[in-house]
Amino acid sequence: MSSAKIAVVTGGAGFIGSHMVDLLLQEGFVVRVIDNLSGGRESNLSHHSANSQMSLLVTDIRKLEPLHAVFKGATFIFHFAGIGDIVPSIENPIEYMEVNIQGTVRMLEAGRANSVQKFVYAASSSCYGLASVPTTESHPLSPQYPYALSKLLGEQAAFHWHRVYGLPVNSVRIFNAYGTRSRTSGVYGAVFGVFLRQKLAGRPFTVVGDGTQRRDFVYVSDVAKAFYAAAITEIVGRHWNLGAGNPQSINRLTELLVGDVEYIPKRPGEPECTWADITAISNDLQWFPLVDFEEGIGRMMLDIERWRDAPLWDPESIKQATTTWFKYLAKDQS
Ligand code: UDP
Repeated sequence: MSSAKIAVVTGGAGFIGSHMVDLLLQEGFVVRVIDNLSGGRESNLSHHSANSQMSLLVTDIRKLEPLHAVFKGATFIFHFAGIGDIVPSIENPIEYMEVNIQGTVRMLEAGRANSVQKFVYAASSSCYGLASVPTTESHPLSPQYPYALSKLLGEQAAFHWHRVYGLPVNSVRIFNAYGTRSRTSGVYGAVFGVFLRQKLAGRPFTVVGDGTQRRDFVYVSDVAKAFYAAAITEIVGRHWNLGAGNPQSINRLTELLVGDVEYIPKRPGEPECTWADITAISNDLQWFPLVDFEEGIGRMMLDIERWRDAPLWDPESIKQATTTWFKYLAKDQS
């Protein structure tokens, strides 16, 4: 019998999950990935396909029984599986609640049934809504759309399992993660997918507003390291904010990507600035961001071909894709 520790990564074929898999394999874990390949891609793991330490179970987390063999002997569960994006969550809230809350509850039950040493929940900074910055962990919660609510309720379920059943849970509230393997398909949203495809096509970057808005972009390998630290720590029952703690403007992003820009209307309900206060995670977990913005963008540029099959957005198609967004979130602007 192998003495290597076992980690389960839900959503492990996805953007952040696949980087988590990389790190865990490097750390000598046997890694069992659970992914239904709805947002994730097998190709995100193809560099490990010959590695017998990793396996992929293609299934929906809502269908998994807590006593399924995939969880047997697991030391850690990293829970990234879920669905994202603002607009589809407004249009189809039931599915968001089913996957992001009920699905999480199933994974918590699996953690409980298998007495894992840590369950680390991937939470979202969207729980804070339009927050004051830099945002600390004690900032009031104010989810603005069903996706944000579903991720917050999933986190509350995780802490409920901690309190009621003694499951050792930590949660990491991710600000704007970016990096290689960020999503290339699907709905309009995350800025990197939009801009990298536009760059490949020689089209101008569609900058929202005047581009002075800032985001706390944190590079994905740093995100994976934070989750690892949240698993191996003795600390339990805590949530941390995770960003680089150094927000960057969209104008700076287009400068680094190099290309023409065109401006599109501001989106309602969007913060001017997101900025994680990372004092707590740095103090508690000795975690510090290592990849700076220029370096991170450079790494993505090396991998830009991956975005070749991503949808190419322009101001008109963005306008259509965001109709729901403007309809439901505009009232918050008053
Ligand atoms: N953004 C942009 N053009 C786009 C898409 C996004 O300028 O076509 C900007 C957007 O205004 C925001 C930033 O990029 O300031 C990050 O947007 P994303 O949707 O990736 O993340 P979020 O707004 O949820 O933080």
